[in-house]
Amino acid sequence: MEHNASNFIRNIVKEDLETGKHDHIITRFPPEPNGYLHIGHAKSIVLNFELADEFGGKTNLRFDDTNPLKEDIEFVNSIKEDVKWLGFDWDGLFFASDYFEEMYNRAVLLIEKGLAYVDDLTADEIREHRGTLTAPGKESPYRNRSVAENLDLFKRMRDGEFGDGEKVLRAKIDMASPNINLRDPVIYRIAHATHHNTGDKWCIYPMYAFAHPLEDALENVTHSICTLEFEDQRPLYNWFIEHCEMESKPQQIEFGRLNLTNTVMSKRKLKQLVEEGYVDGWDDPRMPTISGLRRRGYTPEAIRTFCREIGVAKTTGIVDTAMLEHFVREDLKLKAPRTMGVIRPLKVVITNYPEGQVEWLDAEVNPENPEMGMRKIPFSREIYIEQDDFMENPPKKYFRLFPGNEVRLKHAYFIKCEEVIKDENGNVIELRCTYDPETKSGTGFTGRKVKGTLHWVEATQAVPAEFRLYEPLILDDEKEGTTFLENVNPNSLQVLQGFIEPNMSEVKAQEKFQFFRHGYFNVDPKHTTSKKPVFNLIVSLKSSFKL
Ligand code: ATP
Ligand code: MG
Repeated sequence: MEHNASNFIRNIVKEDLETGKHDHIITRFPPEPNGYLHIGHAKSIVLNFELADEFGGKTNLRFDDTNPLKEDIEFVNSIKEDVKWLGFDWDGLFFASDYFEEMYNRAVLLIEKGLAYVDDLTADEIREHRGTLTAPGKESPYRNRSVAENLDLFKRMRDGEFGDGEKVLRAKIDMASPNINLRDPVIYRIAHATHHNTGDKWCIYPMYAFAHPLEDALENVTHSICTLEFEDQRPLYNWFIEHCEMESKPQQIEFGRLNLTNTVMSKRKLKQLVEEGYVDGWDDPRMPTISGLRRRGYTPEAIRTFCREIGVAKTTGIVDTAMLEHFVREDLKLKAPRTMGVIRPLKVVITNYPEGQVEWLDAEVNPENPEMGMRKIPFSREIYIEQDDFMENPPKKYFRLFPGNEVRLKHAYFIKCEEVIKDENGNVIELRCTYDPETKSGTGFTGRKVKGTLHWVEATQAVPAEFRLYEPLILDDEKEGTTFLENVNPNSLQVLQGFIEPNMSEVKAQEKFQFFRHGYFNVDPKHTTSKKPVFNLIVSLKSSFKL
């Protein structure tokens, strides 16, 4: 696998191996199974797996499943599928919930050392006591309970004697710390909820800030890579590693999370789009989820290259979605067969072409990759062209079809528009054209030149197909005073019925094509039937984006 040149995390790892701080490295990807993975997670996956791979280390997939209220096995399964699809194999597969007993014992150790206490304050009271950035916090009246009393109460919390929210276990650190994270953070809470892995065995659950460093240490993770929001939690992370007496001492390193233009990324928001019916599931092709990108037609190669090229920095930036599109175009350029499809059909009758005659024209499957061979396309008296390739009263510099004008049909002949047929409402429903047999493509005709080249599909053998065209799901980045839901683009999906070449009648789900002049399309795995393929627009052909 290729690797990106250099980033500051890679430099830390390299140095740790050179100085002998570690003789091998272990990284991990630690998703919470409370939603589907998105392109931001892909950045973290590529970073963790490729770093370990480059230095002969290992990467674990660990489900950070400490909150039974939001987690589900559906998400566990989708996450595994997505990581594999991206092209990565984990070494260990772990669940934080497998360590609940171990974590409980470490919490007991903190109590025994006088470093944790059971608090009866409510969540609101704890918040009020916390203080602010400028004012210190206030100590809880329960802070100085004896070790024996804390041990007894914590045991009874575990045994289910108390209701949700009645008591919590807190680390006893410093209510006046300038770092609010160190003001006696809650480390266990009561939740009488069934867990997807441990069932009803537990009714107390560790908080993320406590659980995460312990999970890392128990797996001997050397470099625990996370996003920048956790920077202020690093002292707390290290505090737990030290005072819980973990043998292994992982190092937390933060990097800037990925944000994309016209995209919401947090699982909470994506979940809202799904649950409130703005999209058709987590894998809707407009979603920035891995499953959505897959259904849209993105390739793992394109996503990996994108993740490498955006780099890893100590700051959070916003990346232009056009860059992601650039890499899928680059990847598909040599792979995707070329074909012709008409998305908004307009019938053309070629009046001087013999009735009943069909000829089979030769075309390259991919002119940029001759190894892909040739294909045959039928041509006859009746074809479809694109509605917007004709204008009755064109402006200057319109080189497509208009009355009296001649254009080239790709792979076929020149045709000239002779007559326009309209319905009773004045809509153009058919064109009558003539063709010139001398101008056949591939015969070296040089008699005269035309400026427009149109795509087309022969009408009698054309296969009906559905085209789904997409625009960004989110119109603009959130403005002050609006929610992202108010910025959902009402035109993000357009469904059109058109025609494709007959040699395309047996396309398979997830096959990708370049439709001449339109862009790259993917065969939708959900809506395609044996009668009618459905194509998702992956990306148009041109972009203004420059690397
Ligand atoms: P979200 O806010 O979208 O729910 P999260 O950080 O809560 O994301 P987790 O399941 O906890 O989601 O994340 C698993 C890993 O993926 C973490 O290490 C996290 O830092 C990383 N990650 C999540 N979002 C991004 C992002 N946008 N860019 C880079 N890494 C990310
Ligand atoms: Mg999270």
